[in-house]
Amino acid sequence: MTADHAIALHERAIVIDGHSDILIPLADGLFRFRERPNVPAPEQWDGVAPGAKHDQATPYQLSPYAMTFQCMGQYDIPRLREGGVTAQVMAIFIGDEYGGAPLQRALDMARVFHREIDDNTDHVLLATSADDIRRAKAENKTALILSFEGVEPLELNPNLIEIFYRLGLRIVSLTHSRRNHFADGTQLGVRTGGLTRLGRELITRMNELGIVIDLAHLADDGFWEILELSSAPVILSHSNVLRGNNPAYKAPLLAINPATGVSKLQALAANGGVAGVIFWSQPDIDAIVDDIEAMLEQVGDDHVGLGSDFYSLEYAPAGLEDISKLPRLTERLAQRGHSDDAILKLLGGNYMRVFDAVLKG
Ligand SMILES: [Zn+2]
Repeated sequence: MTADHAIALHERAIVIDGHSDILIPLADGLFRFRERPNVPAPEQWDGVAPGAKHDQATPYQLSPYAMTFQCMGQYDIPRLREGGVTAQVMAIFIGDEYGGAPLQRALDMARVFHREIDDNTDHVLLATSADDIRRAKAENKTALILSFEGVEPLELNPNLIEIFYRLGLRIVSLTHSRRNHFADGTQLGVRTGGLTRLGRELITRMNELGIVIDLAHLADDGFWEILELSSAPVILSHSNVLRGNNPAYKAPLLAINPATGVSKLQALAANGGVAGVIFWSQPDIDAIVDDIEAMLEQVGDDHVGLGSDFYSLEYAPAGLEDISKLPRLTERLAQRGHSDDAILKLLGGNYMRVFDAVLKG
């Protein structure tokens, strides 16, 4: 009974996932979005890598398997359809190997993003507004939203944000974990600072254009600075709140800042924003629900969303291994007694409130 109800609820919901790095293997030509790629299970992999990315050093200590397959097999059009996903955010992230030509790489990733939309108009559409997401729901399609995870592609010129806006860019985080010309990322334990002059200029420009600002990966100073500066609600697209088991995600969202008496999550809520709960590196689906509940307990049900960030089957939560399994999360939330209304907000309603407020079209 509960299962049927949850499935119907999931089918009715606008479901939005706030973060995926699937554009990386797509841009590398490892598969096409329409395919359901054949990714071997970690224990069955013979160690022969098609892309050989695993030879490169990584600060995140990803396994060769994860470096090779990345999030392939976790996001593709068949799985997005199966998972009932109304809108998927797809990030342009510049890997270290493209650090010398970030603009070139970003344009190529944007090219592939648009090519996949153009070649699959029966299943997906480009979303640049909240209404586009509603249209996707009405037409039984998945809306794709372009984001930046780090503004390295702008190099030293914040005005280039206007070009990417025209290419559909609607969500932007200033950094990944690195330092760039605009701000400091979490820097894996190195002492960090906040925004530069360019970073502050860019925040203002993004407010004017109608781009959703994402606080993911920002070092603490920048996090607080943007909440002061931004005239619009912001998001934190993917974050883990209970288990800071990876230094890139160490942000203690729930910890109360003794100087102010509020936590990062409470500050985000006061701004009208949304924090997306991450799935990557969680042991199982119940751990994800525990994270969600810890967040709901602190700020209520208007400020929590989804930010899956799956990154390889090796680090996939048991029971929620890829985006096609998302209805199971709805089922588990219903089993734990969450109301339909609270679940609808979590699945996408809260992001929609921010998108309605910020996106102009
Ligand atoms: Zn990330």
